[in-house]
Amino acid sequence: MTKTAIITGSTSGIGLGIAKAFAKAGMNVVINGLGSAEDNEPARAEVNALGSGKTAFHGANMMQPEQIKDLVQSTEDKFGQVDIIVNNAGIQFVEKVEDFPTSKWDAIIAINMSSAFHTTRVAFGGMKERGFGRIINVGSVHSLIASPYKSAYVTAKHGILGLTKTLALEGAEHGVTANAVCPGYVETPLVTGQIADTAKARGMSEEEVIKNVILKAQATKQFVQIDQVAALALYLTSDDAAQITGTALPVDGGWSAQ
Ligand code: NAD
Repeated sequence: MTKTAIITGSTSGIGLGIAKAFAKAGMNVVINGLGSAEDNEPARAEVNALGSGKTAFHGANMMQPEQIKDLVQSTEDKFGQVDIIVNNAGIQFVEKVEDFPTSKWDAIIAINMSSAFHTTRVAFGGMKERGFGRIINVGSVHSLIASPYKSAYVTAKHGILGLTKTLALEGAEHGVTANAVCPGYVETPLVTGQIADTAKARGMSEEEVIKNVILKAQATKQFVQIDQVAALALYLTSDDAAQITGTALPVDGGWSAQ
């Protein structure tokens, strides 16, 4: 039977890459992100063209629990059930803790962490009943280690790992797995923005930030590619991955090995 996947924050970057990989594998894919259905029609059409499954866009704002509930329920109405959720939506803000805006803290905790609870809680019971489910949380190397000036992001990404482990235990005897994929630096719009913000916070040029900050800890000295993260997410949906649960899987060029 065709599997149905929701991928939050999938109109750009890593989420879009995962949506494309899942569509190519024949799944029904619901993409999500900021902006109107019209704005996001090119992304939906691009994903739709890749596979035999159906594709839809839902514009739930990951700061709004009621909209998140509607994302999951309307997917169940449209496709019958939700088999896979990739909690990927995320934002970043880089600032010294004493200057960190409280509104940015609240937004990062809501989008990068709490939204994963709000999607999962609606779909989890059905997954358990049917004996199959996959929760894939896009964490970060910052789920495992910290960096300065990223208090909210590091907190949210550590938090989502706690949720991942709890979901793994609750789903373990019901065929439902939960894992966190933990990328190092992937070249996406989120990182491009971060280069400029970090340059400002540290008083460095953007070139210095790339060389001495961003790729400093990434042992391979290469950006992770979106397709490499998407391939791991796709593997986690497979039957071969049924015994992988409650894990944090780094895709970080050796960053967290140090
Ligand atoms: P991106 O900026 O390219 O894409 C972010 C997506 O989230 C977009 O589709 C955007 O519309 C959506 N989004 C943002 N706010 C939203 C909201 N309030 N409601 C709904 N959707 C919203 O980012 P990316 O780099 O692809 O990051 C995706 C995930 O990967 C994030 O969780 C990020 O923390 C994580 N991550 C990224 C990197 C990296 O180097 N890019 C590294 C580790 C982890």
